Amino acid sequence: MAESAPRTAHTWRPQRFMVIVAHPDDADFGPAATAAGWIDAGSEGRLVCCTSGDAGADDWRTDPLELAAVREAEQRAAADIVGYAGISFLHQPDGALANDLALREQLVREIRTFRPDAVLAVDPETLFYSDGGVNHTDHRAAGMAAVDAVYPAARNPMAFPWLARDGLDPHIVRRLYLFWSNHPSAWVDVTGSIERKLEALRAHPSQIRHPEQLEPRIREWGREEGEAIGTGAAEAFRVVVIEEDAGDEGGPTHVTPPGTEGGEPGGG
Ligand SMILES: [Zn+2]
Repeated sequence: MAESAPRTAHTWRPQRFMVIVAHPDDADFGPAATAAGWIDAGSEGRLVCCTSGDAGADDWRTDPLELAAVREAEQRAAADIVGYAGISFLHQPDGALANDLALREQLVREIRTFRPDAVLAVDPETLFYSDGGVNHTDHRAAGMAAVDAVYPAARNPMAFPWLARDGLDPHIVRRLYLFWSNHPSAWVDVTGSIERKLEALRAHPSQIRHPEQLEPRIREWGREEGEAIGTGAAEAFRVVVIEEDAGDEGGPTHVTPPGTEGGEPGGG
């Protein structure tokens, strides 16, 4: 696959995007390099963590509230490195996240407030990773809640009608970018931003048990995904187009990195 590089890098870029994840560090193991690249190119991003990772330790004596505070601080530092405009913690319980109406209302509130063109979330259809392992129940719940909040709830004025009554008008999210997917359809070239992903991940020391293995692992992931488009590093997404571009001013833009054709097979 690396020999022929049959695909080109995905170049659609949202002006505004929101990353919705279960735990502090998910966004940094996930689409951090894409987020950093888009922000560098002029996009505005916001991060939403459904839980504060209060069950993410190896010792049962750990105080979950203290751990949550540590992990929120780590995530804030990492978000600054990536360049997010802001971050929301929804304070749902780690390990017990449910795609219920309460979570969906929180997410609709976030979406209607920030009004992103694209939402990035874990592919909720990933129960088992194709290369081995189980996708955490919270990841699946957050991914499914994000999808359900994007469509139809955020755009439907009759969903949670008190939100519209309070001035949070319905909002159409045009695209979903689902990461950790077994069915990727788009590859974003992150050769220029993978260092920021590494730096952001290093801001989560409570979660990195083998710091010496972090960089080789992340570079290997990036290299493997990059093979699909013949570049040194990429992040892969399953892109779901909900609303075709209207070509209006101020809408999302295409960026054409030097040396690419600028196509986006499978993405649209
Ligand atoms: Zn996680």
